[in-house]
Amino acid sequence: MHPTSSDPAPCIVVLGSLNMDLLLRVPHAPAAGETLHGHSIDHLPGGKGGNQAVGCARQGARVRMLGCVGDDAHGRALRDALAQDGIDTAGVQTDAQAPTGVALVMVDDSAQNRIVVIPGANAGVQVEDAALAQQLHGAAFLLVQFETPLAQVARALEVAARVGCRVLLNPSPVAAMPAAFWSQVDTLVVNEVEAQALGGLPVHGPAEAAVAARALGARGPERVVVTLGAQGAVAVDGQGCRHHPAPGVEAVDTTAAGDTFLGAFAVALARGTPFEAAVQLGIRAAALCVARPGAQPSIPRRAEVLRSPL
Ligand code: ATP
Repeated sequence: MHPTSSDPAPCIVVLGSLNMDLLLRVPHAPAAGETLHGHSIDHLPGGKGGNQAVGCARQGARVRMLGCVGDDAHGRALRDALAQDGIDTAGVQTDAQAPTGVALVMVDDSAQNRIVVIPGANAGVQVEDAALAQQLHGAAFLLVQFETPLAQVARALEVAARVGCRVLLNPSPVAAMPAAFWSQVDTLVVNEVEAQALGGLPVHGPAEAAVAARALGARGPERVVVTLGAQGAVAVDGQGCRHHPAPGVEAVDTTAAGDTFLGAFAVALARGTPFEAAVQLGIRAAALCVARPGAQPSIPRRAEVLRSPL
């Protein structure tokens, strides 16, 4: 059963990764054998799943998170951070054998970054059919990315299809899409790199994104959005294809721009906002995110997006 379109606090279930981002600021990247004194270290909750869950929660959705952390301090900190945003963490599993996922992000004085991701416990997440069916009860969407093992994503999509819950897929980082996914996904959101990899056609800018979006939509999803960074997004559904430009903002840090777009867009759709207007809300939220530093700290709240002059 789909919830009513006027639901003021729709429910969204997010299956995805939970990482602790270790942000190291360094003068330059150390060479092999070099020991370097860095400037600072910050521990920041991250992972596409966690970021998108926070993005949805800050837009007023009731969010149920499904993922896996280790039995360690990072795992406890990530659970606490989700709970602070009001996210239900009952579906966050603990893997006693594996460490919580970590992304080591080294940013040098010229703002170049080098990133190492250790998936750790994310690789051990287990989708249990009955538990997921229960979590999906009354949910407007299941929101999934590709930082969770594809076999578990496949299982989740099957359960969603069985209980009639719509799926919003952000296949990032991009991987070959199992054939069954195309008919199980209601809404597909990809960036230019992902659109190009999945569609097999070059995607640079709105015109090529429109061609790619139509081609991807022809494989099954009812709606396809290709995000284009500072150029906004191209959106395709049964009604046609439109380019929505992004407002001109001074981009300070684009980390989590895509996740912020996803959160605001998903919640708007879940509220019954028409597709084009939901894309525009996602773009406004993402513009606020890129204008300030950080990942989760830069994800705006609903009131801020609604009163934004952008
Ligand atoms: P990321 O991996 O950095 O989170 P992404 O590659 O998944 O992002 P992008 O297409 O780069 O996704 O950005 C998502 C959305 O964020 C865009 O559709 C746009 O609305 C907004 N955005 C990104 N960069 C800018 C920018 N420089 N100015 C305004 N909006 C931006």
